[in-house]
Amino acid sequence: MKGVASERFKCEFPFTGEYTIVKHYERRRAVIYSVRKVITTMYYSRYLMCVAYQRVLDSNECVHHIDEDKTNDDINNLQVLSIGEHTNIHHPKLPEVNLTCPNCSKLFSIAAPSYLRRTKLGYTIYCSKNCSIEMRNTSSKGIPKRIPLMLGTRVSIKN
Ligand SMILES: [Zn+2]
Ligand SMILES: [Zn+2]
Repeated sequence: MKGVASERFKCEFPFTGEYTIVKHYERRRAVIYSVRKVITTMYYSRYLMCVAYQRVLDSNECVHHIDEDKTNDDINNLQVLSIGEHTNIHHPKLPEVNLTCPNCSKLFSIAAPSYLRRTKLGYTIYCSKNCSIEMRNTSSKGIPKRIPLMLGTRVSIKN
């Protein structure tokens, strides 16, 4: 974003500057002018919250559309959240399953949906690609491929 950092726009309302429609998302962006030049541009929703708070929002503050319709810039539909809170709303963290690697005994965790998918297919889950390759190599050296592994069991290679 180009602009003069020291120059701060006034959070005036109604907004006397210009805003444009962003083609793809139909979201309005406010173009903030000083006397002659553009200071900054931002989403109109963000601009409205600057007005409501009477301050310029920090870069770690996000404006969230409560009904998730990003074209609905009604002030009652807007909410200021931290980046973390905002990410959580749009990308809720998947529940995780804690496992012990059957090859190296390392503790690790994977997302529950991935765990379910892989165990359904009968896959043994390793902490890493390396461990899975190591185990595959072990299997091809005479040890039956489908070893009923107890989680956390270390398998020793017998020659
Ligand atoms: Zn949001
Ligand atoms: Zn491992």
